[in-house]
Amino acid sequence: MTTEATRSTARQTRYTGYKSYSYLTPGADYVEFDLDDELDRVPAYDLGLTTEEEERARRLLDDNVVISLHDHPQVFPRDISQIRDYIRTGREHTGYLGLSRSGMTAVFDNLMDGTACVTSQCGWKWSDITYDIGMRLSDIAHQDYVRVVHGVDDILDAHETGGLGLVLCLEASTPIENEVDRIDILYGMGVRQMGIAYSEANTLGSGLKEAGDGGLTVFGRRAVERMNKLGIAIDVSHSGDRTCLDTFEASEKPVLITHAGARGVWDTPRMKPDEVLKACAEQGGVLGLEAAPHTTLSHDHPLHSIESVMDHFTYCVELMGIDHVAFGPDTLYGDHVGLHRIFASNLGVHDAHRGPRYEQVPYVAGLENPTECFPNIIGWLVKHGYSDEDITKVIGGNIMRVLQEIW
Ligand SMILES: [Zn+2]
Repeated sequence: MTTEATRSTARQTRYTGYKSYSYLTPGADYVEFDLDDELDRVPAYDLGLTTEEEERARRLLDDNVVISLHDHPQVFPRDISQIRDYIRTGREHTGYLGLSRSGMTAVFDNLMDGTACVTSQCGWKWSDITYDIGMRLSDIAHQDYVRVVHGVDDILDAHETGGLGLVLCLEASTPIENEVDRIDILYGMGVRQMGIAYSEANTLGSGLKEAGDGGLTVFGRRAVERMNKLGIAIDVSHSGDRTCLDTFEASEKPVLITHAGARGVWDTPRMKPDEVLKACAEQGGVLGLEAAPHTTLSHDHPLHSIESVMDHFTYCVELMGIDHVAFGPDTLYGDHVGLHRIFASNLGVHDAHRGPRYEQVPYVAGLENPTECFPNIIGWLVKHGYSDEDITKVIGGNIMRVLQEIW
């Protein structure tokens, strides 16, 4: 059996072919873009598994609750230079077809994040993110394969019925400005996870591109308290180190690092130092391993691929324990490297990735899009001798445990 065969035989879902916004007339009701492929945009990654290993990997994918702690399962224009015009329409398309072949039970969908420039130039405005959330919800409401997750039971139900749970997330709390009640409004819209700050500092705390990190602000502490009370998971992936540690201390519930890696493996501001990773685990939280282009590199695998990401995985399992590690691959359907180039300033890409020199890759081999992530992650774990019990934990079990506490 080949890797390709594994990729195309994931769990049966109740997806029946719905395409985003097909309740409207393209061209008349909205501007149409030529969108990228959801399947086979890049060649299948060959892990070199035996037939027996392929079968075990497939069984693990089919039988378990599989959760991505961070992704952007939207489809982007084939010509990525059109991305700003595409986003300006406020109408991102969900990759339903690709998701139906991913084997995932639930995905933490981070919407437009720092590219949310629907109504502004630099993104993150309240008007940008409410536009983004409302439009995606309208589309999702017109089909019944993907459902918005409001609690752990929705994920279990998706597992039993062949659906896919979608968790609405914001990578930063910047859009709430100084209005703590906006967190309730976002909860009402379905948001179940929020980051403290993105690269830039905001009213809550500091982002990882700032030279001086003043930690969690007084308002940030109020916001953390409100998120705890509401049942919104807190993420510190893009926060500065001091702000991360302050958030762990301030939060009564475990805090997530949904998409990052270890600075002990690759020394950039985007990665977390041992102190932060250990504090996350001690407080009961979970780390999702990041795989966006040119983030989780390693000196053993300096061309970014699944192998570099797994160097971070093995390091973090050693440091934090297997119960505190998961995956938040941060992938999308389209040219992610091109997206980083066009939105470099909005996303603070150069500041986040400053550190050892590295060679650019066109895409991250083995973890390029949401469809191939978990078949390949599970295949890699099988090939490297991990037990069924440990694999079940890191592909979703650990996340379910912590969500039961937080939500
Ligand atoms: Zn991010």
